[in-house]
Amino acid sequence: MAGPCSVESEDQVLETAHGVVAAGATMLRGGAFKPRTSPDAFQGLGEIGLAHLRNAKAQTGLPVVTEVLDPRQVELVSATADMLQVGSRNMQNTPLLRELGGCDKPVLLKRGASATVDELLGAADYILEAGNSQVVLCERGIRSFDPSTRYLLDLAVVPNLRSRTGLPVVVDPSHGTGRPDLILPMALGALAVGADGLLIEVHPAPELALSDGHQALTIGAFSALMDEIRQWIPASGRYLSLLAQPAAD
Ligand code: PEP
Ligand code: MN
Repeated sequence: MAGPCSVESEDQVLETAHGVVAAGATMLRGGAFKPRTSPDAFQGLGEIGLAHLRNAKAQTGLPVVTEVLDPRQVELVSATADMLQVGSRNMQNTPLLRELGGCDKPVLLKRGASATVDELLGAADYILEAGNSQVVLCERGIRSFDPSTRYLLDLAVVPNLRSRTGLPVVVDPSHGTGRPDLILPMALGALAVGADGLLIEVHPAPELALSDGHQALTIGAFSALMDEIRQWIPASGRYLSLLAQPAAD
């Protein structure tokens, strides 16, 4: 899953979508509704952003994962999203989790920055017990004392979760490190410990990004990462999924 932190413009999303699909991504990510630390920061394009994502999906065939912030938005966002993302800030927003339990789309549940494994699994149970069995767990880094990385990417949580649940587990080395130079090694590490997928932020011009530009890979760097991953796949005992081809009429 690859794409920008935020949907910023039609051109930005289209350029990224074409770039990541050519590199081998099988889902497009991008936030239309953004949970920002400051209320003064860019909050996302909202419904216009969703329209840009639909357009990118129509042009590339990439299914879309995008964040939902509020239970009242679930219907709106699920009309565009193939998978709904619950961000780390909302992991324990129980009204949101319950609402997603009634939805027929998969949910990407990101671990809260200070959430224990029990708390993450408890949050997943809110969705599962409300009737939606399609939950994907995402490790995206936890708080640590060390400012040399944005968060501390907890790779041990992958086999730890695997011993407790059959739910798929994906890893987000972009937020987990906040550093483009650490994304490739941690992506390979995630594969080695059994992750089912990766969530990676990619921007055509990271220096111009309206959110998380410091950690975004360029399209070229993402393509190089995918080339490297392809070489490690046989050793990991896993396989890379291919983008489903649209059914012929
Ligand atoms: C994101 O995926 O852009 C995001 C906001 O992630 P997180 O909720 O993990 O901070
Ligand atoms: Mn981000």
